[in-house]
Amino acid sequence: MNASWDSVIAGLDVGIIIQDREARITFANPKAESMLGLGFRDMVGTVPAHPQWDVIAPDGRPIVGAGHPVIQALESGKPVRDVMLGVRHPITLERIWLLVSATPEFDEHGNTTRAVVTLTDVSINQRALDASRAQVVRVIDALPGVVFQLFRPHRGSDSLPFIGGRVEELFGESSDAMGGDPSRLLRHIHRHDLTRFLGALDVAVRDGTAIETEVAVQGTASKARWLRIHGVPERQTNGVLCTGVILDVTESHDLADALQRSQRRDAMSDLAAGIAHNFNNMLAVILPNVEMAASASPIAERALLEDAAGAARSAADLVAQMLTLGRQDLSEKADGVVDMIPLIRETLRICRSTFDRGISITEESDVAAALVVGQRSQLQQVLLNLCLNARDALAGRSAPVLAVRITVTSDQQLRIEIRDNGHGMSAETLRRLGEPFFTTKAVGKGTGLGVAAAFRTIHQAGGDWTVESTPGIGTTFAVRVPLSVTAVDVAPETAIPEPTQHQGTVLIIDDEAMVRRALSRQLRAAGFDSLEAKSGAEGLAMLRQAVTGLSGGVSVVLLDLSMPGMSGEQVLEHLRVQAPSLPVVVLSGHIANPDALSDASAILQKPATQAQLVTTLRQVQQPEAGGTTTT
Ligand code: ADP
Ligand code: MG
Repeated sequence: MNASWDSVIAGLDVGIIIQDREARITFANPKAESMLGLGFRDMVGTVPAHPQWDVIAPDGRPIVGAGHPVIQALESGKPVRDVMLGVRHPITLERIWLLVSATPEFDEHGNTTRAVVTLTDVSINQRALDASRAQVVRVIDALPGVVFQLFRPHRGSDSLPFIGGRVEELFGESSDAMGGDPSRLLRHIHRHDLTRFLGALDVAVRDGTAIETEVAVQGTASKARWLRIHGVPERQTNGVLCTGVILDVTESHDLADALQRSQRRDAMSDLAAGIAHNFNNMLAVILPNVEMAASASPIAERALLEDAAGAARSAADLVAQMLTLGRQDLSEKADGVVDMIPLIRETLRICRSTFDRGISITEESDVAAALVVGQRSQLQQVLLNLCLNARDALAGRSAPVLAVRITVTSDQQLRIEIRDNGHGMSAETLRRLGEPFFTTKAVGKGTGLGVAAAFRTIHQAGGDWTVESTPGIGTTFAVRVPLSVTAVDVAPETAIPEPTQHQGTVLIIDDEAMVRRALSRQLRAAGFDSLEAKSGAEGLAMLRQAVTGLSGGVSVVLLDLSMPGMSGEQVLEHLRVQAPSLPVVVLSGHIANPDALSDASAILQKPATQAQLVTTLRQVQQPEAGGTTTT
């Protein structure tokens, strides 16, 4: 080699090595020296795979002996081009990637004499590639699902060139196990959905349109999961490649399911409350009439009538439960502050004295007082309903236990846990729990209203609940209601006042003749005079006359809300103009919109007891009582 070639070779940015037929290095240019980290003197005479270099292929396999491109070129007599090798730099110990080409040279007899080897450093490219690969892996790992590529060749069967992400989580086998074979993926899809999915895939491949579908799969646990598959096909020279993602949408499916169930629950609740409302009106007639008839009858008939009155009162209790199912059945005004601790104690006392003696009823509490906003009778009904269900579930069990535990949670909620070791609930029963009229009990044994009413009341009190149940083991209801900071109200007066002198004149506005008559009788018995109007319009007309002195002074109005024609709310509005100082007591079984009643002096729930009615009518007529009162 002449001097000018020497300087060219020395200045090249490509490493050049010459190796003799035994692959011993006989020449290295400066670039090769710096790449390989050894001076020419150290390299000379060594074989290509110097142990310090730790030569590997891109897949990490070590390259030894005949695997080395230079040996291949020397042995085959054919040039070897652009083979990628990884070499460890002996000084920096960094892995560098070289693109190696080896060209053999021959003597006049055609024997190989040496190989000229060029080395290009591609570490930068390789590192960039590694980084972008790592980034893709990170992106795929962060996806809440699986990424796949399915290839359908023009001829032959489908393959799965790529699958990654949460394969194990969704299908219970690793991506390596699944790799390549689409049937391994497809067999997870529920057979009802598989045909549909394959059809969608055919259409997508044929028309080049995206696939968007949902399928059910049998997941890792025994529970079925819902997957949404989204794929985009792309034509290639030898077939169609479909790239897509598979996302687990089980949770939103469950949510949609639950929402649908709760909507059905609401609709049924409203229906039940509507029936209860009408039924309640009938009871409002039956009960007082029977009670009055009983008190006026000879002994023999009285017993019969008292039985009838008792049954009517039970019916009223049942109807009251159904009424609580209605949306916003109670005005907020009717709520008081209730100390739950004595209420729970009292309820458990009732349970102890009425349940089978064999049931051990325990109570554990770290709370001395727990004030909650709500209606005492309804809150007690919640506890009773849950305890009664526990009792029923404990029938025939050995060592039956009903355990109640009261705690206050860190977020200031009162938590009442009611646990039984009864027969528990199946998944289906648990799912339908809280649906009005859902019962697993025999006809006449269950109404299917207990839990529905309880949930409704808890909801109205701003609380929530959880239920855990295992068939054969037992059930735990945990009810949480927010604690109130308000002081406890003084208990309202409930004793029937003695009818002394004239109590006032009540104008009864109610469309039901029987209700009017029953109320009139009740009121007269308590010392009131009464007038009856069968509609809002008639009531207002009578009042106008009363004001001009033709019908004597009306001192208070007793107003029904739901009437044909003018509604109670509208009558109330007119009264505010026509007779602003006249007290009005609203008496209704179903109060849909308490805000519209802010002008009423009091609101009573139908059927009101004689005592409630009389006390309220007296109170509102006394100006010193002041403001709005509610019971
Ligand atoms: P009912 O008691 O009239 O059947 P509920 O609404 O109170 O109506 O309860 C509905 C159903 O829920 C019951 O029939 C029963 O199957 C189930 N259930 C409620 N509480 C329990 C419990 N503690 N253990 C087992 N099953 C229960
Ligand atoms: Mg029940």
